Amino acid sequence: MIRASNLTKTYGKGEAATRALKRAGFVINRGETVAITGPSGCGKTTLLHVLAGIERLDQGEIWLGDTALHLLDEAELSRLRLEKMGFIFQSYHLIPVLTAWENAALPLVAQGVGHKEAKARAFEALAQVGLKDRAGHYPSELSGGQNQRVAIARAIIGQPVVLWADEPTGALDSETSDQVIGLLEMLNRHYGTTIVIVTHDRNVAARAQRIIRMENGRIVHDGGMQS
Ligand code: ADP
Repeated sequence: MIRASNLTKTYGKGEAATRALKRAGFVINRGETVAITGPSGCGKTTLLHVLAGIERLDQGEIWLGDTALHLLDEAELSRLRLEKMGFIFQSYHLIPVLTAWENAALPLVAQGVGHKEAKARAFEALAQVGLKDRAGHYPSELSGGQNQRVAIARAIIGQPVVLWADEPTGALDSETSDQVIGLLEMLNRHYGTTIVIVTHDRNVAARAQRIIRMENGRIVHDGGMQS
């Protein structure tokens, strides 16, 4: 479903240039859960950002189904992200002045869905992550794990084909991490959502069906858990 080839990305120019991706490539099938691992600075976030069309490639191709991401302009990429992709970040990226359901509903609001439908679907999404009874709470009134579940509700509300997660458990203790990963596994099983997780946590990576390990901008391992 996602075909990436020859991905090359350099930040800066001349002496200050950093080659963050060096001809990386792979295919991710529909419904897979993939962990991207590797040492700090090896290019994991850059890889996630180019796959999601947030960062531009210098070279290479990315296909999502039969859409060529590398050929789309910014407006087309924004629409594609809104309609086909969900995002989860380490620091949740919730809006503090909005309640849980209002945060979850944001992608629908951006798509022009009416208030009543957006609210109903936000409550449904919160129910899926086990937080319906917290729908009226603000982020400051929720725990880290609960806020990450609100962020997951927001990520899945548009029924994306792919979910990108950048260190989704980085700010959580191990028990809460387990719950969040369990929730992502449940979404993968029930809806067939493809999930790509950048993580340095071996326990999180071990639960993915596949691990892509990077070093210095290159893919050095692609398959199951390394012993
Ligand atoms: P990781 O997620 O594995 O820690 P990153 O993808 O964030 O790695 O970074 C890969 C390399 O690119 C690092 O050397 C980093 O310093 C550099 N880099 C990342 N983003 C930028 C940027 N916006 N400008 C300049 N260099 C960057």
